[in-house]
Amino acid sequence: MRTPLIVGNWKMNTTRGDAHALATACAELAASHRSVEVGIAPPAIWLESLVAAHTASPLRVFGQNVGEVESGARTGEIAPTMLREAGASGTLIGHSERRTLQGETDALIATKVELATSLGLHVILCVGETLDEREAEQTFEVVERQLTVALAGVDSLDRIDIAYEPVWAIGTGRTATPDQAQDVHARIRALLADRFDAEAAASTRIQYGGSVKPANAADLLAMPDIDGALVGGASLKADSFAAIIEAAGA
Ligand code: PEP
Repeated sequence: MRTPLIVGNWKMNTTRGDAHALATACAELAASHRSVEVGIAPPAIWLESLVAAHTASPLRVFGQNVGEVESGARTGEIAPTMLREAGASGTLIGHSERRTLQGETDALIATKVELATSLGLHVILCVGETLDEREAEQTFEVVERQLTVALAGVDSLDRIDIAYEPVWAIGTGRTATPDQAQDVHARIRALLADRFDAEAAASTRIQYGGSVKPANAADLLAMPDIDGALVGGASLKADSFAAIIEAAGA
């Protein structure tokens, strides 16, 4: 009942030429795998031209980040309305690289989630614990805090998917085992049921992210509460991204 969502987070990679070639391949994959929703989160500077090149495609295009106010003095930021006007259907919020490298707090993330959803953007809200937190057995506590604060200002999950991304698995080649990931996903779904209701929790997609690749995608995606993947490194090559999409559609 939940359509798997596979999104490639290109981060600060690709030349304009690379971006167009990769987006064309992703648009073909989206068209040929209709049982899976396929998306890309390219660097913001390429986003509008990629959308324009694939207007007829089911490929969804996301921002990697969004500003926390509608307009004004925020040098370097992109407002939610700008992302929408450029053709993005949604945006990532709270990616761990923004939390750790840009110092984004739970409170800032909450402001972004509330504003972006209120302006019609779909949000992929990223949460996840660090290695120290996992080793201190604080995984559930951390994820619960991140989710509770981030969702404090919204009264519906209609425009929200969650990405559980253990920080220790992002870009490290270390992946959570399917059981480790499933445990956290089930806990997230229970939290959503408490905070909203069982129906909303059952229809919200929870993606896994953290070194997803062709070799581990099928086992992760087979778990009952894993509804897709947020893919970094393996989304930069069309063939590895294709294999992950195929695993989601199988
Ligand atoms: C990510 O950036 O969200 C991610 C999961 O990266 P990687 O797949 O490279 O670990």
